[in-house]
Amino acid sequence: EVVIGILALQGAFVEHQATIQNLSVKRKISVSLVRTVEDLELCDALIIPGGESTTIALLARLAGLLEPLRAFVKTKPVWGTCAGAILLSQVVEGTKKGGQEVLGGISITIARNGWGSQVESFEADLEVEGLRDSQTPFTGIFIRAPVVLTLTPSPADPPIQVIARLAPNLLPPSLPSLEDDDPKTIVALRQGLHFLTTFHPELTHDDRFHEYFVRECVLARAE
Ligand code: GLN
Repeated sequence: EVVIGILALQGAFVEHQATIQNLSVKRKISVSLVRTVEDLELCDALIIPGGESTTIALLARLAGLLEPLRAFVKTKPVWGTCAGAILLSQVVEGTKKGGQEVLGGISITIARNGWGSQVESFEADLEVEGLRDSQTPFTGIFIRAPVVLTLTPSPADPPIQVIARLAPNLLPPSLPSLEDDDPKTIVALRQGLHFLTTFHPELTHDDRFHEYFVRECVLARAE
C-alpha cells in the first residue's frame, strides 16, 4: 500500500485528506497527516496544502522538518497547491532574501500573491490536459494565488509539462489581460516527480486533480 502524506502544519490539509481518503476506497493507497519527521518517513508521496507559505516554512523549520522535506523532494513525488506550489518552486520573486525558505523541486520562478492586491480571489474555468472527462471544465478556485513568472529548467532537468492554463478569453474582468503564451496563464504543471497547482482543487467537489496526481505521479511510479 502506497502512503500519501499531507503536510499538516497549517492551511487546507483536512480537505486534501478527505479527497484522498475517498479515492483510497478503490485504490491501494492510504492517507496520513504529516507533522513530524517520523510521520514523513512513513510516506511514499506528499501533498503540501495551501495556506501561508512563510508560516508553513517557519513551522516546518521549528518541527525540524525543513531539511527532511528537502531530502524527500529529491526522491519522492510531491504536489504543492497554492502556498505549497510556492514552497516547491526554485525561486520566489518579491520576497527579501531569507524571507521565504523553499524546498525547490520545480525549476520555475513564482510570485507570491502575484495577481495583485486588488485580486484577492477569483474562480475561472480551466483548460486542462490529461484529466478524466477532459471535456468537462474544471473550476479553479484562486485565493491570493501565486503566479508563474518564468520556466527555468536547465538542460539537465526533466522537462516541464503544462497541465492546465487559464483561458485568456475567459478571464474574470478583475484580472489583467494576458496573451495565450504568457507563462502567467499556467496554473498547473509537472516536472519530473513533482506537480504544482496555483489554485485549490481540494476546495472544489471535483477530485480529478487528486486522481491525476495519484494515478500519474504516485501509482505510475510505484508499479
Ligand atoms: N498567498 C499565500 C502565500 O503566499 C498563498 C495563498 C494560498 O495558499 N491560498 O503563501
